[in-house]
Amino acid sequence: MSKGDFYSVRMRASEDGAHELGGKHISGGELISTYDNLKNAVNVLLEKALTHSRGTPDFLQIQFELIDKPITKLRPLPIGTNEVESVKEGHSIAQSLLEIAGVPRKCIEKAFEQITENSGLRGAILFDIRSSVRIDNRNEKGVRVSRMDWLTTNFDKWSDHHKITPSLRVKEALVLATKVSQHPATVAELCWSDDPEYITGYVAGKKIGYQRITRLKEYGDERGCRIFFVDGLSDLHAYIEYLEKQPIFVEWEEENVTRIN
Ligand code: AMP
Repeated sequence: MSKGDFYSVRMRASEDGAHELGGKHISGGELISTYDNLKNAVNVLLEKALTHSRGTPDFLQIQFELIDKPITKLRPLPIGTNEVESVKEGHSIAQSLLEIAGVPRKCIEKAFEQITENSGLRGAILFDIRSSVRIDNRNEKGVRVSRMDWLTTNFDKWSDHHKITPSLRVKEALVLATKVSQHPATVAELCWSDDPEYITGYVAGKKIGYQRITRLKEYGDERGCRIFFVDGLSDLHAYIEYLEKQPIFVEWEEENVTRIN
């Protein structure tokens, strides 16, 4: 261990047994820590698991491992907010944004038809925009994006600049969306939380940035959704390897602000 080393820290929690034994997914989390901060990092993830409104976990796993690759720095996607009055309006805006991002209409319709059967996963599903078919073969596990973070001091500056209340939820989602959208094969992402108390979701992509939509599901609904729309994936294995293993830090610089709406 040397002073400049970083560690990937991951957590998953479930109820009624471990995920692989059919337990219900409660919470997951991933961050990057220095060695000296590991105790605090583990505590942040433990707190997240023990206070999730999806339920009380009876299985929890937290692990850390040394990151043995250079960490790529990425600028956060520019952020926009779409205020909507109803779930119907929210879904309609999400579909229009996905289309602007480059997802064909037919594929969007297919994805929305299959959302119910794909909820309850602990990871994301990969949807091919040409065949309109799910291609990740990960069943109820999905693909969990990992090895990513944003230093709190820099995130707080970003939040302050954008007049957004800083929260772990926004930070985690924007970090994930920034990492995923960076890959050339990613066309767009659609997400809403599986937390029954959180109804804001987003659509993200290189062209459209990170577009929050204030209502994508009804309050109390435990079904979440995370779909990565992908194109030209000749090497699925390498794509999943990028999502799971490539370490990234999001870093914001005030002078590089891009306005999108
Ligand atoms: P959340 O936004 O954390 O409430 O998660 C909503 C859904 O997104 C979850 O049910 C998972 O299916 C998926 N998800 C959450 N975190 C990740 C991640 N790190 N990588 C891939 N999918 C995730």
